[in-house]
Amino acid sequence: MSELFQLRCEQCGRSFGNGPLVLCEDCFAPLEIAFDLTAVRSQVSRSVIESRPRDIWRYAEFLPVAEGFRSTLPVGFTPLLQAPRLGAGIGSQDLWLKNDAACFPTLSFKDRVVAVALAQARAFGFEVVGCASTGNLANAVAAQAARLGLAAWIFVPSDLEAAKVIGSAVYGAQVIQVEGNYDRVNRLCAEIADLHPWGFVNVNLRPYYAEGSKTVGFEIAEQLGWRLPDNVVVPMAGGAQISKIAKAFSELVTTGLVEPRPVRVFGAQALGCSPIAGAVAQGASEITPQLPSTICRSLAIGNPADGYRAMEVIRKSGGWAGSATDPEIVAGMRLLAETEGVFGETAAGVTVAVAGQLLREGRIPAGDTTVLCITGNGLKTTDALVGALPELPVLAPSLEAFEQRLGAFEVSR
Ligand SMILES: *Cc1c(COP(=O)(O)O)cnc(C)c1O
Ligand SMILES: [Zn+2]
Repeated sequence: MSELFQLRCEQCGRSFGNGPLVLCEDCFAPLEIAFDLTAVRSQVSRSVIESRPRDIWRYAEFLPVAEGFRSTLPVGFTPLLQAPRLGAGIGSQDLWLKNDAACFPTLSFKDRVVAVALAQARAFGFEVVGCASTGNLANAVAAQAARLGLAAWIFVPSDLEAAKVIGSAVYGAQVIQVEGNYDRVNRLCAEIADLHPWGFVNVNLRPYYAEGSKTVGFEIAEQLGWRLPDNVVVPMAGGAQISKIAKAFSELVTTGLVEPRPVRVFGAQALGCSPIAGAVAQGASEITPQLPSTICRSLAIGNPADGYRAMEVIRKSGGWAGSATDPEIVAGMRLLAETEGVFGETAAGVTVAVAGQLLREGRIPAGDTTVLCITGNGLKTTDALVGALPELPVLAPSLEAFEQRLGAFEVSR
């Protein structure tokens, strides 16, 4: 095999080539993609990457896609925004937003992981793809499968936001609403994947899927001028994204694209589903699964597949994890929108609220370069804001009526 990557067991080191495999046959540890970084290093440089189109494929050598792979989907390369007004509000002097609320094509960071997983699904010969999803993954799989001409089976918990269900079904995917939480949905998909020759992006294609999250880290570093930040704050569900952002930073250092710099990695969860944040806070040696109960459905995974890895990454980096109550999540969404004009979903509310706590507690120093990962779009979770915003006036269409009530109107600035 001429490829620069293959599946490897982290525990025993055994290699498995490439295929739709998830666990080591010997020790049942999760498989991870290992890259030949010496070869990667000889093929890429800052200027080579900068000369390419502004999407995730500019980092192709760091992704598990076949040599010569050409995508027609310009996913990623979302804006990295300076956030001085939010920074002033929560106590940071150098705050940045990585804004995946604007990710193409379905407005969440899941577009990145799906693009990589589907590239491999085709290479492995799957004509049917699917996923177990808390919503955003469903949207991304449905949209990208439609564009690639693949059939898609999407499994979601039956209590999802309407926008996320409609935003999957519209692409012609078969959406199945399962009575039960995400962890039940995920178990069902694992059983289906054993029986049918389907590529489930986050089940039997999970090692490939997870690597797609590295592109968030590559972009942050490049957009800071090929420099690593001091801190990143990342919302956690299954725990893959946070682990892979850390992996991306370390690969950039290993290949000489950025100077070494210790980056502290911070995780954020909703208090009503905080198995990883709870374990970090308690100094636990394992993750205790939890029954989710939170308005933040995108992060409602009670038994996170990469939870242990996420916890290790956070600890090793000198970071921490925090959690936010439902009212704090809503307040975080509003603060982000009112200060920076960015409408993030409930997961963004979690991230902003937890970042505020970490700054107040001094775990993140105010003068550090700190990046918050805004991972999804608020238009998909307007349900969370119903009743939370001031009541809106209805007015007779006359100047007189307007002038009469002018004093009662309020504008935040
Ligand atoms: C899935 C998701 C996450 C968490 O990703 P994991 O890799 O599962 O930890 C964060 N934010 C949003 C909006 C998501 O949809
Ligand atoms: Zn093994």
